[in-house]
Amino acid sequence: MARYRGSVCKLCRREGTKLFLKSERCYTDKCGIVRRNYPPGQHGQGRIKLSVYAQQLREKQKIRRLYGVLESQFRGYFEKAARMRGITGDNLILLLERRLDNVVQRMGFAGSKKEARQIVRHGHMLVNGRRVTIPSYLLKAGDTVELREKSRAIAHIAQTLATVEKRGFPSWLKIDAATFQGKVVSLPARDECTLPTVQEQLVVELYSK
Ligand code: SF4
Repeated sequence: MARYRGSVCKLCRREGTKLFLKSERCYTDKCGIVRRNYPPGQHGQGRIKLSVYAQQLREKQKIRRLYGVLESQFRGYFEKAARMRGITGDNLILLLERRLDNVVQRMGFAGSKKEARQIVRHGHMLVNGRRVTIPSYLLKAGDTVELREKSRAIAHIAQTLATVEKRGFPSWLKIDAATFQGKVVSLPARDECTLPTVQEQLVVELYSK
């Protein structure tokens, strides 16, 4: 599968906001946004007025990068969200929030989506007691997520889990760090999704053209 291999801090700088794509570094003064809060490239510091289309495109890219999803897969989420009842923009965010790699990160097993994705791909996580290696697996209310017993000795995961408080913890998830087990208490409401500010309505407008 295709993967972005460039500098992730450039992605944050392009979107003008912290997307928390790295682990500890995002909370320090070394963060790319703290050091150089302007878009990358030769003309990054110039004044650019964005067209409506450019604003919609940037918003779509921001959300896509935030969740580490490629274009075609993101489009698939949008189409699924449009078929669901309710507000398409909200449905889109809620679908992305339910991804296993997102939940693994939010529960604190990983410091970034990339790390979470690797933990899942390498078979360290169990969902309802069964090994799941698909990062895009969609969780439901009541599902349990736990670190496989053999993997509990991995110091990096334990350390990351110990600092979950610092990164903020959503109310729709529950985690017991001592037993390495978490639970999806309920599906999230839109305002429970702790994101940088995103305007998902612009994505709906972009894809509805
Ligand atoms: Fe880099 Fe993280 Fe800062 Fe983004 S939030 S610029 S990924 S350090």
